[in-house]
Amino acid sequence: MRQIDHFIAGTTPKATRFGDIFDPNEGHVQAQVALGDKDVLDAAVAAAEAAQPAWAATNPQRRARVLFQFKALVEAHMDELAHLLASEHGKVVADAKGDIMRGLDVVEFCMGIPHALKGEYTLGAGPGIDVYSMRQPLGITVGITPFNFPAMIPLWMGAVSIACGNAFILKPSERDPSVPVRFAELFLEAGLPTGIFQVVHGDKQMVDAILDHPAISAISFVGSSDIAHYVYERGVAAGKRVQAMGGAKNHGIVMPDADLDQVVNDLAGAAFGSAGERCMALPVVVPVGDDTAERLREKLIPAIHALRVGVSTDDAAHYGPVVTAQHKAKVEGWIAKCAAEGAELVIDGRGFTLQGHEAGFFIGPSLFDHVTPDMESYKEEIFGPVLQMVRANSFEEALALPSRHQYGNGVAIFTRNGHAAREFAARVNVGMVGINVPIPVPVAYHTFGGWKRSAFGDTNQHGMEGVKFWTKVKTVTARWPDGSADGGNAFVIPTMG
Ligand code: NAD
Repeated sequence: MRQIDHFIAGTTPKATRFGDIFDPNEGHVQAQVALGDKDVLDAAVAAAEAAQPAWAATNPQRRARVLFQFKALVEAHMDELAHLLASEHGKVVADAKGDIMRGLDVVEFCMGIPHALKGEYTLGAGPGIDVYSMRQPLGITVGITPFNFPAMIPLWMGAVSIACGNAFILKPSERDPSVPVRFAELFLEAGLPTGIFQVVHGDKQMVDAILDHPAISAISFVGSSDIAHYVYERGVAAGKRVQAMGGAKNHGIVMPDADLDQVVNDLAGAAFGSAGERCMALPVVVPVGDDTAERLREKLIPAIHALRVGVSTDDAAHYGPVVTAQHKAKVEGWIAKCAAEGAELVIDGRGFTLQGHEAGFFIGPSLFDHVTPDMESYKEEIFGPVLQMVRANSFEEALALPSRHQYGNGVAIFTRNGHAAREFAARVNVGMVGINVPIPVPVAYHTFGGWKRSAFGDTNQHGMEGVKFWTKVKTVTARWPDGSADGGNAFVIPTMG
């Protein structure tokens, strides 16, 4: 059976524990991944420590050129990488390509790293005194990533970190770790020095070793909220810089004047695409007014019935299987729970099987109406192909729903009314807002991050926030005396001058 190993420079300690990698389309184990521990991490850290000073001393333009080569190599291997990703994750190949391309957008942003790292300068802050600041790398940094975007999220973190002059160790999800390892290989081929981008695999044991390791200065985490919170607290307590993105429950508000055909089309992709396994999915739709709700429901039902669930390589499929049998059982458990809580199950996706792939982890699309904010199934993240409709009587009621929800990752409003959209964007208590855009993932040169239990820590991913996270600022106050007898030697600090 195929075995996925760590990608570290030097000697890798022999693996004693392994995790199963499933084929979600067929439902069987297709490979095993080595699960590392402190010894594996120590080996990676030693290699990173040996390589990082020279990489930090490499000028930023040269660092950017390596990223440029990496981007070209990933593009040349796009088909291979997308199929590999889809075979472990279950998303359809077109979606897998999107996952990789969104990661490459961040790599592209990093080509401007010489510009992004430029500091500030004040000439003549005092007599003969200039003040300037510079952004310097942190040293050895780590990214811990979830299963749902095995290409994009490692590049959100890793590309910016190494562009800033750090060494980066990636601990990808143990469910779909192959593409991250291919990225490490392609980085080497692109000319990145050994030890600057490494991959260690593992579960909680490895994550705990990372959190406790004294040589690691910063950790970026993306995953579910309870674990994000744990990583944040323990990492910060150990003196590290930590950002930890968590779960989500994004709402789509539909105003009475919205273009409902557009909304239905957008919802079909945003609620069910990638089997709902996206932190920026729209699993809750909030029509404003019963009339809007009835009109929307009438259009949604046939659109959901028309969705095609298929294997990842089916070009016509809208979405594929979920990642594991365990996750399938969890999603179906939430469908049962939501029905038991009194919501109307309009379309039931449970019990779906795909002919010829009966053991695959497929779930049909589900639609609930009359979901209410007191239901557990509304409060928690389901992370599957399930759309919950919560009816609101007014704009204010609709605005309050995402604003009061424990998660605050993304939200969307569908309307033709500029004033309503403007009010909504300004007042909603959520980090990323879409106006007639169902999945408002910001472009790479802006920044990604939610609020409330969707993110712990105060900096976002990529864009200038990413550069800020992966660097520290040094400020220099320099005095160059002119050499004359008095003015040259008398030190005058700016506040006294
Ligand atoms: P997860 O929390 O199970 O795993 C994330 C990472 O944590 C993995 O690398 C995993 O190995 C590690 N991990 C798992 N259990 C651990 C434990 N007990 N202690 C320490 N580390 C542990 O998340 P997942 O199921 O892989 O991904 C889905 C979740 O990620 C969803 O909640 C989704 O909303 C969230 N997500 C959030 C964002 C965002 O930007 N906010 C983006 C993508 C995904």
